[in-house]
Amino acid sequence: MTLRGRLTTAFLVVVLGPVLLGSIFVAITVATVSRDRTAERLDHAAATVRTGMAAACRQLQAAADAVAVVSPNDRSAVAGQLITRGLATDIKISGGETPAKIAAPRPAGITGWQDCAGPGDTPGKAQAIAARAVAGDELITAAQTVDQAFLARLTAASGTDVTVTEKDDPPGESRLLPAEPGQPLSLTLTVPPSRPTLLYAVLPAVVLAAALAAVLVARWLAYSTTRPLGDLAWAADRVADGALDTRVPILRPDELGLLASSFNRMTRELQAYVQALTASRDQLRGHLAILGETLSSTHDLHRILQVILRTALAATGARAGLVLLIDPDAGQLVPRCGVGLSGDWDVPDTDLEKKRLPVGEGVLGSVAATGEPRRGQGSPASAEPPCLTYVAVPICAPAVAEEPGEPPAFPETLGVLALYDRVGGDAFDDADLHTLRTFAGQAGVAVHNVRMHEEAQRLSLTDPLTGLWNYRYLRESLRREVERASRFGRMLAVLVLDLDHFKEVNDTYGHAAGDAVLSEFARRIRVGLREVDVAFRQGGEEFVVLLPETDGYGGAIVAERLGAAVRDRPVTVDGVQIPISVSIGVAVYPEHGENSPQVLAAADRALYAAKNAGRDTYRLAEPADVTKSHVSSGDHEGNFDQATAVPSGLRPQQHRRGR
Ligand code: GH3
Ligand code: MG
Ligand code: MG
Repeated sequence: MTLRGRLTTAFLVVVLGPVLLGSIFVAITVATVSRDRTAERLDHAAATVRTGMAAACRQLQAAADAVAVVSPNDRSAVAGQLITRGLATDIKISGGETPAKIAAPRPAGITGWQDCAGPGDTPGKAQAIAARAVAGDELITAAQTVDQAFLARLTAASGTDVTVTEKDDPPGESRLLPAEPGQPLSLTLTVPPSRPTLLYAVLPAVVLAAALAAVLVARWLAYSTTRPLGDLAWAADRVADGALDTRVPILRPDELGLLASSFNRMTRELQAYVQALTASRDQLRGHLAILGETLSSTHDLHRILQVILRTALAATGARAGLVLLIDPDAGQLVPRCGVGLSGDWDVPDTDLEKKRLPVGEGVLGSVAATGEPRRGQGSPASAEPPCLTYVAVPICAPAVAEEPGEPPAFPETLGVLALYDRVGGDAFDDADLHTLRTFAGQAGVAVHNVRMHEEAQRLSLTDPLTGLWNYRYLRESLRREVERASRFGRMLAVLVLDLDHFKEVNDTYGHAAGDAVLSEFARRIRVGLREVDVAFRQGGEEFVVLLPETDGYGGAIVAERLGAAVRDRPVTVDGVQIPISVSIGVAVYPEHGENSPQVLAAADRALYAAKNAGRDTYRLAEPADVTKSHVSSGDHEGNFDQATAVPSGLRPQQHRRGR
């Protein structure tokens, strides 16, 4: 049964029940009242009829007495007068006998009659009433016919239908008035049936009409109550199907109207919420696409970290963020990129790197030291970015097992990813922490990959024994440096170094000692150079040094210094001192060659010259045009005095750029 059906039934029961009960009560009451009233009327009528009959009897008695008191001769005349005046229908005078013994004479034409003094046996058959008086020996009987006119008078006086009783059981609302002294006739009083027929006809009609109205009203009420509910159910169905723009009409400002307006508000909020979610999902999708592309396409660590940071900000709705990487040598956290930072921290990323933080101190430092994420409220420490709320997670290298089958080693903490001030003011929650850890994981993989890449790059370009750049990188660097010098109109000095009699070192002290000597020699070269200078191991015990923005004079000074650094201090290997020396050839771009191979060849020739000059010395290459004509002998001697022999065109530069 539907709600509407139940409501209709309930309403009908509530309304129709009392209506039916009321109508039954009214009907019963009306019947009772009407019965009581009839009985009352009959009582009243009975009294009236008795009085009337008694009056008639008294009148007859008076008439008889009046005849009796006059002289016997006048009696007939008086009787005639009384009849004429209507005091009796008939008056009979009979005589000669003892009154007690004579039967009462019947008036003429009256067959059955009743004596007022005492009714006879058959009062029902009587047609008249009579009274008697005795005068001497005469009996005077005065009679009154009980005809229709007489009965009509009684009827009019009593208000009931008065008839002479013929049956013992009078029908309907009636009463039998038995004969008695003073009321000689047996009479029946009948109240005309005054049933409230109209009431009995109208009452069912009214009840029926009321029932009909109740059914209609019940149906209407049930309909108007359930219709908004139906609308709501329909709207809820549509919302469930995804139509969030569904609204229900608010018909009346009642409880259902309130429910409808609450439903509309809920749907509106839901719609706004879904729109916001969709927008942020799309935004996040875009960021993830950029992130994926960046991770797979570049080894530019700064750019990768920036994209990861921006994606993390978009995912959590934070205002600002910071990525710091650990510098293990310094035990410090180096800020690598920041977004949205305020105050002192609102600086370009290049300046941000100067704001180093000690590992182990403050929020960021403790995250870096313990590898445990932290979140909280209020600025974490004065040295750290100012904020209202923060969350910081460690950036860890991916955990990789050293050996297959072994559990992965404890992941190394590479840095910290921190977010500040979630938009909306709420503190960062567990979900944000989880999201941020995901991004920190990405950052960890990215940093690790970039470092691995750099390491691989470095390994492929460096010499494992000495740590200097290898021959492959020499060619590349030389070409680049020559190009740069050419573009800016600068000079570039190239030194080629070869240890003297190194074969003997190997032969005397062993190959391992030779390696140690090579390593130490490389270290001394590195120590003796500027930051912009680059040293290479060309192969065996031959090395090359590039001195940007340096002329022959400056190159000679470096050659001299490197020679001295080797010559002055023998290399100690396992407690054994191994004296060594080096020969150096110096050439300068553009003076000794137009391109990198030419300059390198010139330096090689200068080295050859130095070897020829007895080793443990340096030689400056011949100028290019000169070289062509003095291939074998055109070298300068390797000492400072000789350097003054450099062509005068170079002099100003040696003062400007030489060491
Ligand atoms: P000089 O240059 O003065 O003419 O004499 P040298 O003995 O140095 O002659 P050369 O340059 O021909 O000899 C190079 C020697 O360097 C040969 C080889 O035994 C040694 N050598 C080359 N590479 C290595 C190396 O990696 N380790 C060691 N221990 N020795 C090396
Ligand atoms: Mg050699
Ligand atoms: Mg040598």
